[in-house]
Amino acid sequence: MSSLSLSSLSLADVYRARQRLAGRVALTPLVASATLSACVGAPVHFKLETVQPTGSFKLRGATNAVAHLAESGVKRVVTASTGNHGRALAYAAHALGMESAVCMSSLVPQNKVDAVAALGARVVIAGKSQDEAQIEAQRLMREEGYAFVPPFDDLRVIAGQATIGLEILEALPDTATLVVPLSGGGLFSGAAFAAKQIRPDVRAIGVSMARGAAMHASLAAGHPVDVEESKTLADSLGGGIGLDNRHTFALTRALADEIILLGEPSIARGVAHAYREERLVVEGAGAVGMAALLDGKIERRKGPIVIVVSGANIDMTVHHRLVTEG
Ligand SMILES: *Cc1c(COP(=O)(O)O)cnc(C)c1O
Repeated sequence: MSSLSLSSLSLADVYRARQRLAGRVALTPLVASATLSACVGAPVHFKLETVQPTGSFKLRGATNAVAHLAESGVKRVVTASTGNHGRALAYAAHALGMESAVCMSSLVPQNKVDAVAALGARVVIAGKSQDEAQIEAQRLMREEGYAFVPPFDDLRVIAGQATIGLEILEALPDTATLVVPLSGGGLFSGAAFAAKQIRPDVRAIGVSMARGAAMHASLAAGHPVDVEESKTLADSLGGGIGLDNRHTFALTRALADEIILLGEPSIARGVAHAYREERLVVEGAGAVGMAALLDGKIERRKGPIVIVVSGANIDMTVHHRLVTEG
């Protein structure tokens, strides 16, 4: 760990993030899974970010970033994410008495637009692609004094996500293996960083979908690369890491002991298992840890395995199909 260029992030930052999050973000439960523990012959626990008020862990990073900005006098924040980060930013801004704007393309479904608007954000519809929505967000920054809050590649966001690692190690100090969904790497870097600062021999495993795993491809190439995006059940894991990635690429490279890629049938099985056996509604991205375990891809070691169950925001029609199919 000492060889890393991680001097930019410290455990003290994570403790400060926790103070900013107190009372605004849920201290989520860490619960044992009887079925999976029996299945692998070692204790398996879930860290249930599904119970956050916006249905995903993204509230941690967004709240920490927004609280930081509020302290430095910023009044308005903007992002271009339509998914869990957009919701989280809208919620965090509202809670902290700030204005927020979420830029979306005209192709974003009305239910997603409504969900963000219901959280108090100004919804700005611009263009026909995510790129055009991003350009609109930049215009709001330049012309209307909004501060941009990125979904993962930001030290305040990473420190917020890292509070998950703190909570896990405090609840279960002998955690041996940490299994974390991986896309842009904010969640993985934060959780693995905090866990390894407290217990350096924790094994940190990232899990992505095989289709369009940008971080995995970037690590293989030795630098951030673009990958072709395709439709996946783990939709919250889609998207690139940014060719100008500043933090999460280096952090993930330094902290990942292993990265596992899953096919779509495995992700479907994870969502169905969560519902049928664990009585949990989990979105595709949130179910990849369980899916990797069910696939026998997590090496068994001495000590508990903790799976971060990152979110619940699945389209209920898709959910119904996944849990009723064989
Ligand atoms: C954003 C997200 C992830 C991935 O987080 P990154 O920080 O981009 O790696 C995983 N699960 C859910 C539910 C998410 O919303």
